[in-house]
Amino acid sequence: MSYRDHDRELGMGREISRRDFLNGVGIAVGTSLLAANSPWLHAFGIPQSPFAPEQDPGYYPPSKTGMRGSHDGSWEVAHELRDSRGNTNTKGWAEPVDDNESYDLIIVGGGISGLAAAHLYRKLAGRQPRILILDNHDDFGGHAKRNEFQAGKRLLLGYGGTQSIEAPGNYSKQAIGLLRELEIDVQRFHKYYDQKLFSSMHLCEAVFFDKETFGTDRLVPQKGLHYFGLDFTLDNVSQIPIAESARKDLIRLQHTSVDYMPDLTPEQKRAKLVKTSYKDFLLQYVKVHPDVVKVFQTSTHDLFAVGIDAVSARDCSREGFPGFKGMRLPKSHEENAELDEPYIFHFPDGNASIARMLVRSLVPGAVPGHTMEDIVTARVNYARLDDASSPVRIRLNSTAVKVKHAGDPASAKEVEVTYVRGGQARRVRGANCILACYNMVIPYLCPEMPGPQKEALAYGVKLPYVYTNVQISNWKAFQKLGISAIYAPGAYFTNITLDFPVSMGDYHFPGSPDESCLLHLLRAPCEPGLDCKDQYRAGRYELVSTKFETFERNVRDQLGRALSAGGFDPARDIQAITVNRWPHGYAYEYNELFEPLDRPASERPCVLGRQPFGRIKIANSDADGHAYTNTAIDQGYRAAREIMAA
Ligand SMILES: Cc1cc2nc3c(=O)[nH]c(=O)nc-3n(C[C@H](O)[C@H](O)[C@H](O)COP(=O)(O)OP(=O)(O)OC[C@H]3O[C@@H](n4cnc5c(N)ncnc54)[C@H](O)[C@@H]3O)c2cc1C
Repeated sequence: MSYRDHDRELGMGREISRRDFLNGVGIAVGTSLLAANSPWLHAFGIPQSPFAPEQDPGYYPPSKTGMRGSHDGSWEVAHELRDSRGNTNTKGWAEPVDDNESYDLIIVGGGISGLAAAHLYRKLAGRQPRILILDNHDDFGGHAKRNEFQAGKRLLLGYGGTQSIEAPGNYSKQAIGLLRELEIDVQRFHKYYDQKLFSSMHLCEAVFFDKETFGTDRLVPQKGLHYFGLDFTLDNVSQIPIAESARKDLIRLQHTSVDYMPDLTPEQKRAKLVKTSYKDFLLQYVKVHPDVVKVFQTSTHDLFAVGIDAVSARDCSREGFPGFKGMRLPKSHEENAELDEPYIFHFPDGNASIARMLVRSLVPGAVPGHTMEDIVTARVNYARLDDASSPVRIRLNSTAVKVKHAGDPASAKEVEVTYVRGGQARRVRGANCILACYNMVIPYLCPEMPGPQKEALAYGVKLPYVYTNVQISNWKAFQKLGISAIYAPGAYFTNITLDFPVSMGDYHFPGSPDESCLLHLLRAPCEPGLDCKDQYRAGRYELVSTKFETFERNVRDQLGRALSAGGFDPARDIQAITVNRWPHGYAYEYNELFEPLDRPASERPCVLGRQPFGRIKIANSDADGHAYTNTAIDQGYRAAREIMAA
């Protein structure tokens, strides 16, 4: 079949919801409608700039499909800043237009950390400080991104990034306290998350073996519902398209209890496993056939964004991968402290609901409602976010390019922040500034920072991810095949899952297979064999240079092949695609396989990098070296406290 015929069969030419109009035509129209001195703009308190797409009544980023996440229009200015090595003079940004605005606090970054910092600073200050939050995206929330879809009259909600409130029992007093202040009662998710739906329909997980990697396309079900640690029945193992001796090794790996390092003490074993990749553990200690490695290669993508060649065997043992039953390993402090909580604390749009509730509490009138239930279907009024009458203003589509003390950092009374919005450099002033953006951008924003601090901030490399939401007309193919999720070790997307079955407020999960539903597809682009940071860099490069069309073709091809036996037709059944591309995804977490082990916690680069610099403080999850919502909140709290302490 020719390439073109194959594309037609996949439905590449079909009309689906995938075009990102607001980034192109829509913004141009919106801007021209709101000419420079429109009285309407004055009424909203932004008389200076003719660029105000948020004021367009049609401005509603969550409903955009196509390329989202770090969408086009959000990253170009920051990359120009990087390419000029922080020299704003060469960019025509040296003479910014003065907004004549001054604030108690300016926050760069409207993700959960920045929003939480604003919330907590207001609380600590005990008054109504004036706060400005700048973000380069067209929506707030950072990684906590809401994707909306329309199936006829029905609203379908998906998460474009931050998925769930993971293990709230481990949240700090401040982080859980903030959720409570927002009226989020995590216990209610026990009622909202239908934990029995898929098992009552006898749906389990399956593994899709693709012909490019395994010689043939085959879908093999597993025993039940698993996260990690594949678990095949003997019968299912026989269906896996790998060498016969590899099948035997897989059974041995899963079902026997062997101590593969019998001569070492538990502590020595731990130390050895920390410096051994899981791939090497399988090959050198368990001595499995190389085909077994192929089966597991991408099973760590979901958590680490790299394969088992770049994740330590110790990390894999902690996550429940097979091979460690007989090893009698000592438990770490974290493992001892871990609570056994189900993975159910999920709003239908992920933690975007937390960001939306923060905005509701910060900007009066921007988000209707009062409860954790009504936030789910509340429609944000984006025109209210940057309202001069509000004590907190959120200015989207605005990239900070320079953050500088007005004078000597030790004694200055103000910080000047230059940002680019609609191609125009503008300047605002604040008594304090919190940088809740990515760590690695800070050295470019604040060239005046001490060298070692800049070096520490530039240390980590964020993990690249693609979270793709696909709206399908029904999920009968899943029911017919008896599956709710697919792990695909060799394919473009390593995980395909039916959306979480959560119903709350006026939002109802499409519980019948006849209904339109969302699928979630995960890709972690990387380059096996390199050290993890280089893999992340390679993945990031891949992401920014991949067109939507390539993602779409892979979505259609993979779903068509994996689900064909269930009657799925990609040309007929796919209704919309939203690709959330995150070249700068998870915060860099220290990878024990590649990091020095003897570094005291106080000397970790994230700790050295987050030190206050005059009136500039640093929040964001990078500052903790952990990619979680609670760490983003904790760091926002710390930065707010540092201002109070000063
Ligand atoms: C795909 C994905 C899934 C995740 N899933 C989970 C999960 O299930 N549970 C969980 O607890 N955590 C999860 N995380 C981690 C969690 O999302 C983050 O730890 C947290 O949301 C980070 O918040 P933040 O505010 O520190 O950073 P961000 O969300 O990245 O926000 C920072 C904001 O600053 C902006 N910015 C950067 N530079 C500038 C500039 N110069 N000017 C203006 N703005 C700028 C950024 O574009 C961004 O919008 C996930 C992360 C990703 C990427």
